[in-house]
Amino acid sequence: MSIVTIEFMMLNGGFKLNVGEPNVNGEGLYGDLVRCLHNPGSAEPWKTATPELKLSMAQLVAKYGKLLPALHRLNKKIQAMNIGEKFLVAENMPSDTSERSKLEALVEVLNQHDVSQVKVEWEKRTNEMKNFVGELLQSYNIFTPRFDIRITLGNVKKDDRECRFCSGTLASGSLFTKVAHAVPEALGNKTLILGDECDICNKYFGDSVEPHLIESFDIYRAFLGVRGKNGLPHLKYPGAEITHHEGIPVIIAKKIEFTESSISVDLGGSRKLTPAKLYRALCKITLSVLDEKHLIGLEDTVAWIRNDQPSVALPKVGTNILPVKNDDPQLSVAVFIRKNDDYTLPHIVTEFRFGWFVYVYILPFSRLDKQGFTSDTEFERFWSFFPMYCQTKNWTFEDLHSTKEITIKDSINVKNNSQNGTKPIDDADKQLEI
Ligand SMILES: [Zn+2]
Repeated sequence: MSIVTIEFMMLNGGFKLNVGEPNVNGEGLYGDLVRCLHNPGSAEPWKTATPELKLSMAQLVAKYGKLLPALHRLNKKIQAMNIGEKFLVAENMPSDTSERSKLEALVEVLNQHDVSQVKVEWEKRTNEMKNFVGELLQSYNIFTPRFDIRITLGNVKKDDRECRFCSGTLASGSLFTKVAHAVPEALGNKTLILGDECDICNKYFGDSVEPHLIESFDIYRAFLGVRGKNGLPHLKYPGAEITHHEGIPVIIAKKIEFTESSISVDLGGSRKLTPAKLYRALCKITLSVLDEKHLIGLEDTVAWIRNDQPSVALPKVGTNILPVKNDDPQLSVAVFIRKNDDYTLPHIVTEFRFGWFVYVYILPFSRLDKQGFTSDTEFERFWSFFPMYCQTKNWTFEDLHSTKEITIKDSINVKNNSQNGTKPIDDADKQLEI
């Protein structure tokens, strides 16, 4: 029996429902769902949340909820909608990012403007999008995993699991007893889980690779109070201590220097970091969140992140500190997957954001790439193609190819950027010393 997927696009995100094949007589779940969503007397291609719709959805769940438990989650979303809220429903919604973003913009416009204005406003919005990222979306699909609900990526059932990093399966003796986080738990990810990561690979990444990324955020985590596996980080340095008290970061330090415009704290400590491992930890995130079908061609990348190897040339990694709004998520990942044969562009690019820190990096060693993006010309062509990055200032391009351990001295500089001198902006500044 073939499965039909009905997709809902709402203001607070989307929902995909796999229902059985439509019955020719219009009976069964599919027919009842179509009737339930039908707005009588309305010719508009969108749907509106009405009390009648909420009631008939509740009845549908009572009838079919046992057969299709996902209906309960859909019902929850529908019941939570404001009366009058407009949304889209379709079979076979486009999977192409540029087409999808147009529809997402339509949902927003529908809910912000009067019906008579929708056409004009939607055109305006899609033109703006075209001007800004139009060309980018011609070449890339964007995938952004959600962190607000619990999701297991890859195979959910243990019997079906195959470790993405060593190809181990239950049958070949691998175990899948640990919960493998697609983004390290220490960075606040409690919900995005990878099914296809065996216990041995999980331990390897957790012990040897991920700490190089996590520790680079230590000061910042302590500032923000991001809870990891062991609760709130409490950092101790020979000359200072950073802790969190009732939502406020507290720094106790021996050496604090005040000037009119800044405060700097010498933490008196240092830590070890291997640049290539930091890069590998970033790529581990990408390889964890990608859909299985996109892993074809990334075999060499998987081998590189899973095994310690001598240093090789790598593309530079763009880093920046970009303030986020209070209600923006603390953690976000956007993976750009090239969809054409323009080999001057990398196959896979990722933006990883943790609070104010942004890393933009190319996934190296893809077999779908024909160049390594290690030369300046190759890198500049890639960078200039992404308007949201090349039009933002203050990027630092880090060469993280070295497999040699370096020592980093930690310090904090609090700069006073405001006009009236009352609003300090914190800026954890890491000084590299080899
Ligand atoms: Zn494994």
